[in-house]
Amino acid sequence: MQGRRSDGQTKALSRLVAIAAGTTGTIGGTGRTGAGDRLARVRSAIISCERCPRLRDYCARVAQEKRRAFRDEIYWGRPVPGFGDPRARVLIVGLAPAAHGANRTGRVFTGDGVGGSGDFLISALYRAGFANIPTSHHPDDGLHLRNAFIAAVVRCAPPANKPTPDEIARCLPHLDAELGALPRVSVVVALGKIGFDAYLQLLKQRGVVLRPRPEFAHAATYDLPNGQTLIGCYHPSRQNTNTRKLTAAMMDEVFQLAACLAAVPARR
Ligand code: SF4
Repeated sequence: MQGRRSDGQTKALSRLVAIAAGTTGTIGGTGRTGAGDRLARVRSAIISCERCPRLRDYCARVAQEKRRAFRDEIYWGRPVPGFGDPRARVLIVGLAPAAHGANRTGRVFTGDGVGGSGDFLISALYRAGFANIPTSHHPDDGLHLRNAFIAAVVRCAPPANKPTPDEIARCLPHLDAELGALPRVSVVVALGKIGFDAYLQLLKQRGVVLRPRPEFAHAATYDLPNGQTLIGCYHPSRQNTNTRKLTAAMMDEVFQLAACLAAVPARR
């Protein structure tokens, strides 16, 4: 972010500052009371986190060097907090921000290109009634989630999309804090085996005993002792969607199931 900024860049910078302060509509537009206030505090803690030098260095370097198509934009370049409805019953757990997607835009599953993982996920959420539009291109695109919140196990873009086990362990407290600020969550959709296993790791840290241990499979559903239902889902990466390992119909199966389960009060 060196040198003189154009008007457009100044507006973009103001926008990023607003995201950092949690004053935009990125947490569902339901106001800043109760769960919204708690989430705003969690957001601030995530955005200022510096626990992983390798990831912080990588994100800052990508934000400085940029991809040619985005050379006139100011990248977010910070850890990316979750996004969605503070009153969500459904929590979606992804892996990590994309280097030129959420690391650029500052919003999870946002800006990774037409037909990328963001559009694939959000279009499924739209069809299931959780999202008001079927795409996720920019923090100003008007996307709002209803009854759903999207988070990730790692909040900084990792090189080659591969966080280390230590980095996942260091970042899990952020997911724990977001979960603590989402009191109505009763259904968790874990995207990919890494996200699924990380969520099990978090449950173990929370004292939830899982026997037998749930195994990741697409659309596999587990009733957990804490009253939540955990659903596995293949990650909507381009690798999975381009090879049709994951299709739109398979995503619909998961999120229509999540919508049905979320309509039922959590078992406690
Ligand atoms: S990956 Fe998580 S724990 Fe590590 S620096 Fe980023 S926000 Fe902090």
